[in-house]
Amino acid sequence: MVKQSIVIVGGGTAGWMAAAALSNKLNPYLYDVTLIESEKIGTVGVGEATVPHLRYFNDSLGIDERDFIARTNATYKLGIEFVDWGSIGSSYVHPFGLFGRPQGDISFHHYWVKAHKLGAALPITDYSVGAVSAEQEKFSYPTDDPDSLASKFSYAFHIDASLYAGYLKEYAKSKSVKRREGKIEAVKTNEEGDIESLTLDDGTKINGDFFVDCSGFRSLLLGQTLNVDFESWAHWLPCDRAVAVPSERSGAPIPYTKATAKSAGWQWRIPLQSRIGNGLVYCSKYLSDEDAEKTLLSGLDGAPLADLNFLRFRAGRRRCSWAKNCVAVGLSGGFLEPLESTSIYLIQVAITKLLDYFPGMQDSSYLRQQFNAEMEDEYKKIRDFLILHYVATNRDDSDFWRYIRSMELPESLERKMRLFCERGVVEQYVKGMFLEPSWVAVYLGQGIVPENYHPAVDSMSEDELVQSLDRLKTEVQHHVELMSSHADSLNFYASEE
Ligand code: FAD
Repeated sequence: MVKQSIVIVGGGTAGWMAAAALSNKLNPYLYDVTLIESEKIGTVGVGEATVPHLRYFNDSLGIDERDFIARTNATYKLGIEFVDWGSIGSSYVHPFGLFGRPQGDISFHHYWVKAHKLGAALPITDYSVGAVSAEQEKFSYPTDDPDSLASKFSYAFHIDASLYAGYLKEYAKSKSVKRREGKIEAVKTNEEGDIESLTLDDGTKINGDFFVDCSGFRSLLLGQTLNVDFESWAHWLPCDRAVAVPSERSGAPIPYTKATAKSAGWQWRIPLQSRIGNGLVYCSKYLSDEDAEKTLLSGLDGAPLADLNFLRFRAGRRRCSWAKNCVAVGLSGGFLEPLESTSIYLIQVAITKLLDYFPGMQDSSYLRQQFNAEMEDEYKKIRDFLILHYVATNRDDSDFWRYIRSMELPESLERKMRLFCERGVVEQYVKGMFLEPSWVAVYLGQGIVPENYHPAVDSMSEDELVQSLDRLKTEVQHHVELMSSHADSLNFYASEE
């Protein structure tokens, strides 16, 4: 077989994650991997909260978790606290993991709904080890005893994404990825429309057989060269700007992200070991940049450590992620606002699927179709879940929230919400992000309680139900008491250095 040349355009999180994974998986005698990045252009420079899947990505590369934590200034993340979303003054934690314990095939939340109607239930988060440990700023690894509630939560990280990209750069270079510095000025396609070569600003020409577009919002190859249209979802997710700034840390880092709803968007707070990452995501139709700046700065709990970073974006995605001999990974393929920290996850999914469907020399149209269908599905499921956070609300205190309340929903979300409201049903996904417990967390956390629960719940008497919830609550508290403080868990790694 003739050696194939893979060219990755872009050295942000997407580019270096792709370079690390491809160089780890593909035989270096059969594939050359080159990454081009431009210091003049730089990277988007935000993106610090992750979901648990990143652990599996790191594991697949053989990365040691302690080393990763130390090198990326990471903290543990047990979930996200949503403040002022369902109504002003309300808050809840969306943890990674289950609530309670299912009874046979019936999910716990059906039992909770009945107990709630009887006035005998605490907030559903009280029955989750992940949520309670987050609230109490505790952390320990989940156990592997499948019967224990302490095995029914998961965790992710808050990371310094630029340190993570640097870490993966080192990794990829050690696996023979070649890095080229330079700004791509021209892209040449052949008669079939495939990309053939790139020309850098110093005149160097780089040929390739397969291209991975990690050029960020520019979408240099997929969007600009191959003219794959952008499908805007801004009518459902109208926030189109963000302003971000790191600030000094005050006190020990907490093991969760905080997302506080504001009058025209929301503010994030992401605790790293060394600093806090902050940002305001907002809708420019309802909030000026000046007011966004004021809102952000008034919500910091330490002094700013850098200049403000203003960003513009559109919610949506390219109509396909793979066209011709080019796959888009990262922002070049689409963007959904960071409310549930899903961009790095979508990068990981695209890379994993690319490796699953990696094209050989033969025609790859079926592989391409499958890849595109699966990516579309991932984006749409996440889109619906994000929209749910906005529409599950009583808020009507600003034009922004009044617009949200009046907007028409995607049919897929409307159906999902009806199923839940009527009988507590959550559409089951075979795989992917945000399974039943996540939807339950947001619905119940934001005040949407189903009219009915699964009829099988009535086979348990009311007394039994109340007692079993009491036992669960005690069990959760017991496990959380045994955990270390989050700060201690991190010091452990620091002292191991
Ligand atoms: P970029 O970082 O923009 O990298 C693009 C690369 O392409 C750069 O190296 C650039 O130099 C190169 N390039 C572009 N054009 C050329 C050219 N002509 N020649 C040579 N090189 C070129 N994600 C999360 O998972 N969690 C979060 O908490 C999170 N928060 C976010 C908050 C905001 C406000 C935004 C906007 C995004 C957030 N994201 C988050 C998304 C996350 O930042 C991105 O998914 C991630 O950084 C990957 O970006 P990227 O590598 O696709 O693009």
